[in-house]
Amino acid sequence: MAHIIDGKELSNQVLIEVSSEVERIKEVHGIVPTLAVVLVGEDPASQVYVRNKIKRAEEVGMGSVSHRLDAKSTQKDLNNLIDSLNTDSQIHGILVQLPLPEHLNEDEVIARISPAKDVDGFHPLNVGALAAGRESLVPCTPQGCMIMLRQVHSDLSGKSAVVVGRSNIVGKPMAALLLQENCTVTIAHSRTQDIEAVCRKADIVVAAVGRAKLINSEWVRPGATVIDVGINAIEIDGKRKLMGDVDFDTVAPIADAISPVPGGVGPMTIACLLMNTTRAAERQLS
Ligand code: NDP
Repeated sequence: MAHIIDGKELSNQVLIEVSSEVERIKEVHGIVPTLAVVLVGEDPASQVYVRNKIKRAEEVGMGSVSHRLDAKSTQKDLNNLIDSLNTDSQIHGILVQLPLPEHLNEDEVIARISPAKDVDGFHPLNVGALAAGRESLVPCTPQGCMIMLRQVHSDLSGKSAVVVGRSNIVGKPMAALLLQENCTVTIAHSRTQDIEAVCRKADIVVAAVGRAKLINSEWVRPGATVIDVGINAIEIDGKRKLMGDVDFDTVAPIADAISPVPGGVGPMTIACLLMNTTRAAERQLS
């Protein structure tokens, strides 16, 4: 049976480190690292995510400000809010909860956030810096996955890794981070031919697809490490259950290590968001 990578436990360790970093910044520089979270509209899942982020920020002693805009807000309303957060010296990180209502342009919003305060790591300058292997604010979910992988592998160099999914927020930055660690990286997606065989060759499989239980034991080489990013809400017997992209019950018996859903990548994502906020605050001080 695989080692279960406990994202809750690991994220608590990260949060303890973030908390002492926040204390250090307060003592040495006399400022409180502060995260601004912007939510447009009433999407229930987004409301839960925003609440959790604010709660965790408060738990580590960080400042937090939440801005809620009406679903009918215009691009100009949102742009004006971002401009004011960009110039507010008491705000060190800005997160706009995605997805936005359809009439708003996400790319425009992401590009408007100051790259120095872009704690999601989605701004084109941060994306470019990551691709070029330079210091940048790195997207939170892939960063969390890397911490999980490093817990299992002291050296990732030379390992073959397959990332299933090529989104800008998970798949592509995940592949860039694995490449930085000298892995041999393949990105698989909906057009990949014989995807099971592609995955079966890998030492490391990262699943970021959004299809419940897509990846079963036929896709995984015995002894591989499997990181499950997927969050799929499935109704079973009238009850809503969260499931990953990996069929845990068939893969866990053959893998070397596996992250569960829930309790895997999810908690790591929030911890890395707060880590990015302290990093952003520090950089703005220098
Ligand atoms: P996207 O929908 O943006 O991307 C999904 C990717 O999966 C696409 O590249 C798509 O390929 C690929 N894909 C879809 N179907 C298949 C298939 N049958 N076989 C192979 N590849 C396929 O999703 P995200 O990257 O935003 O999110 C992925 C999952 O991760 C979701 O479940 C999401 O909820 C979860 N997530 C979890 C987070 C966390 O904190 N734990 C944070 C962010 C996301 P193509 O490009 O060809 O269409």
